[in-house]
Amino acid sequence: MKRACRNNTPKPMEIGHAALHMTLIKNKYYHMNTNNIEHVRCLIIGSGPAGFTAAIYAGRSNLFPVLYEGLQPGGQLTATTEIENFPGYPEGISGNGLMDDLRKQSIKFGCDIRWGVVTSSDLSAAPYHITIDEEKEITCDTLIIATGATAKYLGLPDEKKYAGIGVSACATCDGFFYRKKKVAVVGGGDTACEEALYLAGLASHVYMIVRKPFFRATKIMQERIFSTPNITVLFEHETLGLFGENGVEGAHLVKRRGQPDEEELDIEIDGFFLAIGHNPNSEVFAKYLDLDETGYIKTIPGTPKTKIPGVFAAGDVADPHYKQAITAAGSGCAAAIEAERYLSAKKL
Ligand code: NDP
Repeated sequence: MKRACRNNTPKPMEIGHAALHMTLIKNKYYHMNTNNIEHVRCLIIGSGPAGFTAAIYAGRSNLFPVLYEGLQPGGQLTATTEIENFPGYPEGISGNGLMDDLRKQSIKFGCDIRWGVVTSSDLSAAPYHITIDEEKEITCDTLIIATGATAKYLGLPDEKKYAGIGVSACATCDGFFYRKKKVAVVGGGDTACEEALYLAGLASHVYMIVRKPFFRATKIMQERIFSTPNITVLFEHETLGLFGENGVEGAHLVKRRGQPDEEELDIEIDGFFLAIGHNPNSEVFAKYLDLDETGYIKTIPGTPKTKIPGVFAAGDVADPHYKQAITAAGSGCAAAIEAERYLSAKKL
């Protein structure tokens, strides 16, 4: 792979450097090094709340950020109907509306937003080398990884059919819409238990659909589940499909699938929540960064710093715990501030 030479990387004041071509267009710097590879000071990967907040802060700090949107422009929130818990929106806002606002705000401060997916990376030495869509190569002094995480689904066609009208992978985001209604949570891990307990405080009844005859969750979470009167645990149950006219009205389940006493049954529910885990989108950087056992990028506690100087991770890709739009936005802000400090310290 071709690498940009550190010594050939321009600083904004070196516009006249003979070996380099740099143009200022509409407040954006485009640097090309001698290998004709574009070089940027701050490269942001991902367009969820973390990526766009990093872009706003980096833009206002004159880092001239370039942001690649990734496979799902706007991130996971674009699959959510209404967001009522993002501070500053007392009437709530749609997921797409919030992401449109963040996008516009990023553009206002000079962020160059582009289509494209990172297909490989080389973080072995600065400047860091990123390949987009297997063809475009770009180098950067600082890299903010805000690629998010993808909720796992069962793979049933009905999950798509009822997406946003009864199917959700985030109880904290959508649970409020199911006050005094019946819901089901799929999964037997700590996340499923947390989601079920959260929902039990809102919904009239919560079913937990657990495929094994036991929980995977920690004992303390199990105890909380068993001592919550409006939660029913359906061990050894799997979901075959969902039904309902204009939204989810129930789920078809099978108990002890493949056993001689296999039995099919329906439950009446208004909401169907998946809590079977998330896949952090970190694979493309995995070779260079420390990941936890699930694949979340490990950062220095309390900061977005990874073990590589100038490389930061923000939002869900580095957050196995909170996974909220506002926490992602906060860590995106921190990443941009750290990127600016790094560039200043290095005089880049
Ligand atoms: P886990 O991988 O721990 O659990 C996933 C659950 O989903 C399991 O019960 C699994 O079943 C089930 N599942 C997976 N695929 C399917 C499927 N296709 N159909 C039905 N069920 C399925 O993920 P979590 O998100 O719960 O937790 C991830 C990590 O984060 C864990 O280490 C957990 O301890 C931690 N965590 C900690 C919390 C805390 O400390 N408060 C809160 C939340 C998470 P099976 O067991 O049969 O494989």
